[in-house]
Amino acid sequence: MRPLSYSRVDTVEDAVALCREPGTAFLAGGTTQVDLIRAGMNRPDHLIDINDVPLTAVEDLPGGGLRIGALARMNDVARTPAVVERYPAISRALLLGASEQLRNMASMGGNLCQRTRCAYLRDGISPCNKREAGSGCAALDGFNRGHAILGTSEHCIATHPSDVAVALVAFDADVHLVGPGGERRLLVDDFFLLPADTPEAEHSMAHGELIVGIEVPGALIARRSVYLKIRDRQSYEFALVSVAAAIAVHEGVVADVRLALGGVGTKPWRARRAEAALLGGPADEAAFRRAAAVELEGAVVREHNAFKVELAQRAILRGLVQSLNGRQS
Ligand SMILES: Cc1cc2nc3c(=O)[nH]c(=O)nc-3n(C[C@H](O)[C@H](O)[C@H](O)COP(=O)(O)OP(=O)(O)OC[C@H]3O[C@@H](n4cnc5c(N)ncnc54)[C@H](O)[C@@H]3O)c2cc1C
Repeated sequence: MRPLSYSRVDTVEDAVALCREPGTAFLAGGTTQVDLIRAGMNRPDHLIDINDVPLTAVEDLPGGGLRIGALARMNDVARTPAVVERYPAISRALLLGASEQLRNMASMGGNLCQRTRCAYLRDGISPCNKREAGSGCAALDGFNRGHAILGTSEHCIATHPSDVAVALVAFDADVHLVGPGGERRLLVDDFFLLPADTPEAEHSMAHGELIVGIEVPGALIARRSVYLKIRDRQSYEFALVSVAAAIAVHEGVVADVRLALGGVGTKPWRARRAEAALLGGPADEAAFRRAAAVELEGAVVREHNAFKVELAQRAILRGLVQSLNGRQS
């Protein structure tokens, strides 16, 4: 048995000061951290419990945006009236994740730091470049039905599992970090890294950096947003494909559009090609289908996951139609 010590802090400064040491790690709701320690994937010597740090608020920003504290619980954020009204896709993405009990514990900061659910990483024995750089990727020729088709490399095809990160990426949210080197902000899109040649690095946080909050800029278009999650069963399951979609139309022409995908990318996937194809064009189903096809042109499929190409295109179409009609199913 490995010894593991524990302390609680109640300020950001103390959290960052304690986490300077090697072998330290933060503990928020524990819904991922405890699993990863049990599985031997995380091996900290000292856990720093940050639950007393006052970072649970959801606050208004000038211009209609919101600042979400890193320790706000998923269920609390999902049910905050300002989130429901201004960013329905964020609320929906949160409510479609995990289970009621998990969402009561799980924090927003922890959600962004969760690890991929790739079984070859988690089994602890298969070749996995995330677990051991250079060991190979068993998913490439293994059972890869749930794996990514966008942003993959020959070293890793694991999907990013977060639902809410998909909606956050669609609305250009940024993450606020405080660490030994000071404060910095990163777009959620830049926070997550593509696997490329270094799949062991999933995000751009340095050791000891603490997420203190997430800011979502005000955007009228987000009020019409939807989040669809397609999965093997209707609850307690990760996405095969998900889409955050919002579209604004002026005189029959697409004036603004936001699209991001989950379940298909090695990181939460902003569908910029589809957005570019739609902007300034007609807001009809034929255009939506063409844009979806453009986005998926870059897909690289494996033996078991080719179905995601068609599924993702259908999800994009459905998401855009639902946003256009102002109804989320
Ligand atoms: C069975 C199951 C099903 C799930 N289904 C879904 C799903 O469908 N969709 C989905 O999106 N998620 C899902 N999740 C993941 C869940 O949302 C995460 O476990 C949760 O959000 C993690 O938050 P936490 O507060 O419990 O983090 P913890 O478990 O405490 O920490 C997780 C990681 O984040 C780090 N961390 C935590 N807070 C911070 C911070 N503020 N700054 C820096 N690092 C930090 C920790 O050090 C640790 O590495 C599921 C989880 C489980 C167990």
